[in-house]
Amino acid sequence: MLKSERQEQIYQMVQEEGHVKIRDLSNKFAVSEMTIHRDLKLLTEQGLVKKIFGGVQILEQPKEAQQNQCVYCHKPVSNGGKLTYQLILPNNQIEVACCAHCGLLRHEQLGGDVLQALCHDFMTNTTISATAAWFVMDTSLQMGCCEPQVLTFGNQNYAENFVKGFGGVLFNFEEATKRVVQVMHADCCSTQK
Ligand SMILES: [Zn+2]
Ligand SMILES: [Zn+2]
Repeated sequence: MLKSERQEQIYQMVQEEGHVKIRDLSNKFAVSEMTIHRDLKLLTEQGLVKKIFGGVQILEQPKEAQQNQCVYCHKPVSNGGKLTYQLILPNNQIEVACCAHCGLLRHEQLGGDVLQALCHDFMTNTTISATAAWFVMDTSLQMGCCEPQVLTFGNQNYAENFVKGFGGVLFNFEEATKRVVQVMHADCCSTQK
């Protein structure tokens, strides 16, 4: 999750334009280049952008996966769909899950092999890092993918406001993973009884 509105705006600009000059950012936001560098450090750490000489560019994602099936439940997924959860693996391999529900379960399976996991902010549809995202479960708004449904948000305030409006519970990455694994495990045990 990004700490300030300026960082969000910078990330959006980089997403839209592909690459942006540090000097232009410093002029646009009327802050020093030092400050911009600090903002970019955070974006870089989250694996969202890459610094280049005198500027910044969107982190090039490895070749788009050709799969159109969820890696976990094998439902068809539309690439770049709003709910999808992508797992970036070594050797430029990408796995796509239909939604965060399957994404978290697959992420848990792969563990340390996952270099980066990407999902989308439910409000703005921008790409966010899953490990830094906020997850809403048990909400009244049903998107019709996998149960229990998991929606992803990049911004904690938006997620909290969403919960106020539609109900649900907010989790961070670790909590959401635990919860999905737990619920799925409980389901499988109860059917066995
Ligand atoms: Zn799935
Ligand atoms: Zn799904």
